[in-house]
Amino acid sequence: AKREKVGIIGSGLIGRSWSMLFAAADYDVCLYDIDEKQLSGAVQDIQKQLALLDKQGLLRGQLSADQQFKNISTTSDLSQCVENADYIQECVPERIELKTAVYSRIDPIIKDTCILASSASALLPSKLAANIQHKNRFIVVHPTNPPFYAPLVELVPSPWADSDIVPTTKSIMEKIRQVPVILKKEIDGFVLNRIQYAIFKESWRLIKDGVISVEGLDKVMSAGLGRRYAFMGPIETAYLNADGMYSYAERYAEMIQGIMATFREPDQFGGETLDQIQAEMEQLVPMDTLQERRKWRDRRLAALAQLQKKL
Ligand code: NAD
Repeated sequence: AKREKVGIIGSGLIGRSWSMLFAAADYDVCLYDIDEKQLSGAVQDIQKQLALLDKQGLLRGQLSADQQFKNISTTSDLSQCVENADYIQECVPERIELKTAVYSRIDPIIKDTCILASSASALLPSKLAANIQHKNRFIVVHPTNPPFYAPLVELVPSPWADSDIVPTTKSIMEKIRQVPVILKKEIDGFVLNRIQYAIFKESWRLIKDGVISVEGLDKVMSAGLGRRYAFMGPIETAYLNADGMYSYAERYAEMIQGIMATFREPDQFGGETLDQIQAEMEQLVPMDTLQERRKWRDRRLAALAQLQKKL
């Protein structure tokens, strides 16, 4: 059978990851960027990253790193990237005017059956797709960084999406071994960031109110909640902590609602609390060691992905 073509628009951090994920599943990937230097940098980086994944035993699919690399071609011509593509993943910066300008240019060229996906982190599909002819083919496919180690993708279809868009996108994501979740309607922040910011909001409060240090707060996550959340969510956690949801509600609803009633409106993200948090963080991770610390984080993410693969 003819290999399906995927057009990737934008060769930054996210465009590179998508290219590798599709190449691993043997798609014919065509990567485009407006900036030729970015594009050639991306090619070198992808080759390096594939070699690293190979070394870590985390390469996806059956193909060698070299074969995967050969599945990716680049172009400095946007039409060439998208024409005859079955799936397009747009990865340009998170600015509505940039993204919509790209869509207007490709709108007359793309196949009527193609799926037009955006990597947008926060922009809503109803805004992004409002003025394009192919609004019925549009969906936000929001990856989690770094996609090879955190496979979640949030699928948020445009309100005008054809009925095949969600199931087809879901099966494509499964084919490249990402983990898709479907949002039944759009909402600011989608789901991952809403939950992330709910945690951030309460963390901020607890530090501001002098309940706990930054170091302590981070341990609550890394040594506590995060341990469970690496393989199950808050709902299953509750379900297992009692004998199902009814028993959980019977035992804990009153206590939980009492605590929830003490939550307050978000605090100003600034001022003295910001100074305090920055100062405490600098004690833990000095600013001139950020690069080292990022490498430490990435090694742990890789180790966790290796462990998950074995489970
Ligand atoms: P980036 O800045 O690393 O890359 C953007 C790329 O787009 C650059 O290579 C740039 O040259 C190129 N570009 C700019 N204008 C263009 C145009 N008109 N046509 C083609 N290419 C163009 O950004 P990123 O981090 O890869 O983010 C891309 C998208 O993915 C954004 O919407 C972002 O919100 C989303 N996203 C990012 C993350 C993350 O953690 N970085 C996670 C999930 C989603």
